[in-house]
Order: sequence, then C-alpha cells, then structure tokens
Amino acid sequence: MIPAQFDYQVANTLEEAITILAKDPDGSKVLAGGHSLIPAMKLRLAQPQLLVDIARIKSLSYIREEGDRVLIGATTTHYEIQSSDLLKRICPLLPECAASIGDVQVRNKGTIGGSLAHSDPAGDWPAAAISLGADLVVVGNEGERVIRADDFFVDLLTTALQPGEILREIRIVKPQGRFGQTYQKVSHPASGFAVVGVAMSLVLAADGSCESAGVGITGVATKAYRAHAVETSLAGNRLDEQTIGSAASHVCDGVDPNSDLYASGEYRCHLAQVHTRRAIQTALGRAK
Ligand SMILES: Cc1cc2nc3c(=O)[nH]c(=O)nc-3n(C[C@H](O)[C@H](O)[C@H](O)COP(=O)(O)OP(=O)(O)OC[C@H]3O[C@@H](n4cnc5c(N)ncnc54)[C@H](O)[C@@H]3O)c2cc1C
Repeated sequence: MIPAQFDYQVANTLEEAITILAKDPDGSKVLAGGHSLIPAMKLRLAQPQLLVDIARIKSLSYIREEGDRVLIGATTTHYEIQSSDLLKRICPLLPECAASIGDVQVRNKGTIGGSLAHSDPAGDWPAAAISLGADLVVVGNEGERVIRADDFFVDLLTTALQPGEILREIRIVKPQGRFGQTYQKVSHPASGFAVVGVAMSLVLAADGSCESAGVGITGVATKAYRAHAVETSLAGNRLDEQTIGSAASHVCDGVDPNSDLYASGEYRCHLAQVHTRRAIQTALGRAK
C-alpha cells in the first residue's frame, strides 16, 4: 500500500507549525506519532497535500503539575505516560490506560494528542479523557480555545478541531480525597485496540458512599461517550453488589452499538456491562 503523493515539512516550534498549517488548512495535516495517520494514508482514507511534523517540538512534550491540575503536552507518548511516576501517584488511570495500548513500538511512537485528535471509535484515550473530565487546549491562527472532552469527540474519526488547529495540551483536575480509578479493556487480539474499554474514576464520601463517578466508554459506539446513566446510578449511593450491578446494566443506554465481523452490537454491550461492573469494583477497592 503506497500513499498518494504529499509534501512534508518539519516544524520546530508550535508557532511555526500554526503558520505552515494556516497557508492551506484544508490540504494540510499534522503528523505526530504517525501510527494512525500513516496507515490511513496508505489505505488512501486520508490524502493530505502536506504533512506538518510536530513530533520534534520540544515544548509539546511534558507531564507536570500546576496548582490543582496535571498538564500533559500533546506529543507526550503513550510510553512516557505509562512510565510516569508522577501520574502513577496522582492519576493512575492514565498510566494504566497507556499500558493497554497496542505494543511497545506503538507506545513508543504514538502520542496522546494524536490519539485524541484521531477519535478512533476503538481508541483508548478518549474514554480516559471523558472519565476524568479533561479539558483539551487547542490553538490555531485565530488563537487558543479550551474544549471539554465531552464536547471534543463529535463522531467517527471526527472531533471539534477545526482545520489548521493543533491540540496543544490536556488538562486534568487532580483527583482529591478517597478516589479510585481503573481502565478495564477487552483488547482485539490482532491490533490491541479496544473491543470495549471502560475508564472509571470514583470519589468516595467520608461515609464510604459514592460522591461522584466519571465513566468513559470506548469501542462500543462510533465515538467514545460518557455513560451518564451509570454515573447517576452510582452517585450518592453505597456501592453494594446490587447497586453496582444495576448501575452497570445502564452502560449502553441510548447508544446504538457497533457491529462488525469480530463482535456484534449485542455482544459489545454485554462486554461493556461486565467490564463496567468490574471497573466499579476495582476502582472501589483501590479507593479504600
Ligand atoms: C498496530 C497498532 C496497534 C494500535 N493499538 C492501539 C490500541 O490498542 N489503542 C489505541 O488507542 N490506539 C492504538 N493504536 C493507535 C496508536 O495509539 C496511535 O499512535 C494513535 O491513535 C495516534 O497517535 P499518533 O501520535 O500516532 O498520531 P498520528 O497518526 O500522527 O495522527 C493521527 C491523527 O491526529 C492528527 N493529529 C496528531 N496530533 C495532533 C495534534 N497534536 N493536534 C491536532 N491534530 C493532531 C493527525 O493529523 C491525524 O489526523 C494502534 C496503532 C497501531 C499501528
């Protein structure tokens, strides 16, 4: 498989990348790890005139705390997140999610920003970003804007990013108090992509009941989504087996599940229920 002909330019700064993209926003595409874009180009699903390589922009790769938030640069690789001691301590869902992605080679090249911007229906990061209520900072020729993860994923391979915009940073409020998190996934045996992925973030009140829950689901529908009905069934309640099972049963409420050769929609929803239940139990266990 050979991509259509294209030009290639390396950007050394964010400003340079924005300027290059602004010359032909519709014909250009940002290249980060290339692990989704290059396969799409080889299949001719994407045929950009110009690739703007942002992988060498040092100011886009970092993980740091700032006040009550943790900030992650868009070109931070899956492996860097997987191996971050800071994240293991303050937001363990992120390293756990990163560790589940593809294989070592994919994790060494693929970036969190590329994965979010690609919005693959089986991608892992969108579910984690929704579960944690992340803010995504995007920048273009017109300036900067902040998009909530809930509003970022629009449809299959479609996000709220406008042509010429670059996802710059992922911001997450650090979980406080008695919190428990986990990422539970059924991986496709060939690619490692999620047949179903459940990102769970629970905060417990002093009496042990659930203060709040963040539940992001991937693999089931055309885009990652927030399982609102699961969250409302958990919040304010003691998490006994009956409450957990009943909450998990709502994971596909209002969703039209994907069917393909590997898994029917019905099977995907069954997996989602089983793994949502498991995710609640695991997060609860970690919160104590
Ligand atoms: C064999 C294999 C297995 C995989 N397994 C998994 C898996 O288990 N789970 C999973 O989630 N993913 C998986 N992936 C995908 C992998 O995680 C990709 O790295 C990721 O989806 C895209 O990140 P990237 O940095 O490679 O982006 P690229 O491929 O460079 O770009 C992807 C898209 O995002 C755009 N883009 C990239 N960065 C930005 C930015 N900062 N701002 C705006 N637009 C941007 C590009 O223009 C392009 O449209 C797998 C890939 C392969 C090849």
